[in-house]
Amino acid sequence: MKKHNFSAGPCILPQSVFEKASQAVLNFNELNLSILEISHRSKPFVAVMERAQELALEHLGLQNKGYKALFLQGGASMEFLMVAYNLLETKAGYYNTGTWSDKAIKEAKLFGEVEILASSKEANFNYIPKNVTISSGLDYVHCTSNNTIFGTQMNEFPETDCPLICDMSSDIFSRVLDFSKFDLIYAGAQKNMGPAGTTLVVVKEEILGKVTRQIPSMLDYKVHISKDSMFNTPAVFPIYVSMLTMEWLKEQGGVAAIEKINNKKAEILYTEIDRNPLFNGFVANKEDRSKMNATFVLTNDALKETFDTMCAKAGINGLNGHRSVGGYRASMYNALSVESVQVLVDVMKELEKVA
Ligand SMILES: *Cc1c(COP(=O)(O)O)cnc(C)c1O
Repeated sequence: MKKHNFSAGPCILPQSVFEKASQAVLNFNELNLSILEISHRSKPFVAVMERAQELALEHLGLQNKGYKALFLQGGASMEFLMVAYNLLETKAGYYNTGTWSDKAIKEAKLFGEVEILASSKEANFNYIPKNVTISSGLDYVHCTSNNTIFGTQMNEFPETDCPLICDMSSDIFSRVLDFSKFDLIYAGAQKNMGPAGTTLVVVKEEILGKVTRQIPSMLDYKVHISKDSMFNTPAVFPIYVSMLTMEWLKEQGGVAAIEKINNKKAEILYTEIDRNPLFNGFVANKEDRSKMNATFVLTNDALKETFDTMCAKAGINGLNGHRSVGGYRASMYNALSVESVQVLVDVMKELEKVA
């Protein structure tokens, strides 16, 4: 039996995507060739790339608005430095809301001045700072929409008179937002879009080409745009699987339809965390709770072995919290079913009975 996979990333993808991807490894598009052995410049793969770019913009409602979708390599971590390389001339403003923001800040400091606009570091990132004042004269503002490790999620984004950049690695395509507020969005594929190996970058072209430094070709967004994400050999298979996942999302009714299911999953789990005396949520304010990654701890550590054994028996995978938080983290990305969340909640209820 397939496990209930709550892994934070790489994460669960739809079963139908695994099946189609497997078939394409054996015989892609009835070509009698594997997707793994065809040229990235071949017509069938160029069509995959174009479709993936089109679907990404469509899911974000950003077609014909001056944005380009790129599929790059190096993970979201590469974007930490590429963003600064391409956009930081003097000073940028950063929200520090988690480990990934912290890492983005560290990279940006190599290229210019960084102003921390808001931070929850002093509270081990257990909340989202509000009412943040945005200074003027910044080259851009950078934030992280969902803090994968700590389980917090931003619901309000700042108004800025400079480009707004967002790391959406762990909640891309999970909810409807006015994405045109953002000038550059990036997301490592392996959290909610596909397998590890490619990173989606959606960028408004007009913000590029303004810094005075020289940019190496592989790190220059303009170069990747001019070559349609084929400046060098792209991650053919991860892009193909990402395309399949975006097709699947479209068949489900798109981001608005999946958001309803994501809301339901989050409600089922958080209701149990709040009700069950054996569990506590990690996040300080309910309104900051992530609908993708729910973090929680046992109120009595002595029950850990029992709970872990019960989870394993129920076929639950990937529930361990990140080492910087401890406890548990249930990642409920798009492909995770409501039934899987119900299985977890049933185990939590069962623990109460046996404890
Ligand atoms: C996982 C994650 C990253 C790092 O992604 P890589 O692709 O491993 O570099 C960055 N930001 C967020 C929000 C993440 O969840």
